[in-house]
Amino acid sequence: MSISPQSIPAFLEAISQDIEANAEEVTALDQAIGDGDHVTNLQRGLAALQEQSAELSEMNWSAALMKIGMTLMSTMGGASGSLYGSLFMAMGKKAKETEVNKESFAAAFRAGVESVKARGKADLGEKTMLDTLIPAVESLEQNNASDLPAQLDALKKAAYDGMLSTKDMLATKGRASFLGERARGHIDAGARTSQLMICAVAEVLQETE
Ligand code: ADP
Ligand code: MG
Repeated sequence: MSISPQSIPAFLEAISQDIEANAEEVTALDQAIGDGDHVTNLQRGLAALQEQSAELSEMNWSAALMKIGMTLMSTMGGASGSLYGSLFMAMGKKAKETEVNKESFAAAFRAGVESVKARGKADLGEKTMLDTLIPAVESLEQNNASDLPAQLDALKKAAYDGMLSTKDMLATKGRASFLGERARGHIDAGARTSQLMICAVAEVLQETE
């Protein structure tokens, strides 16, 4: 298995299973400091992607990433729909006319994360998905010289620690920002789903390495 469009069906399957297995927890997180719809928004997007799975696996990686972004954007709804949509669309744009390898993947992921920052007008420390995504992309960049299993271990840890870091934060963006101090003590739902998705992909790659 490699980071190529042929692996998309396996990635989508693993992501959907992990999101399903943690759906109740994510709903509870979004109920605590948001409106509770985050996981159903994401599952709607994932179901639409699974219908396109075969088609996506035959596209070049730039086109596949763009299509994933457009599908998420048009099916998910919520703040997270446009943010996850931008993430993948910007990745696809950056990937244009490049081969998939560790360097080009890290560069595409970086472009995707920058696009989420721009669209959400948010950065590290605001109790959002970016608290998972920013440490994850930094880890990928810093460990590009390591062998793939070690790089993926570091990636999973960075995503996990980033997700956990949202627990004690105050929110300054999104619905949770209306709660002030009451947002403290709850992990951000989008940070959790980002971490689950990153870890699912990393594990598929490690299992088949
Ligand atoms: P909504 O907030 O519209 O109900 P969702 O529940 O689907 O949308 O998604 C909420 C998640 O989106 C949050 O948990 C947070 O991670 C992320 N989010 C919300 N606003 C922003 C923002 N401005 N920048 C980055 N991420 C954000
Ligand atoms: Mg919500």
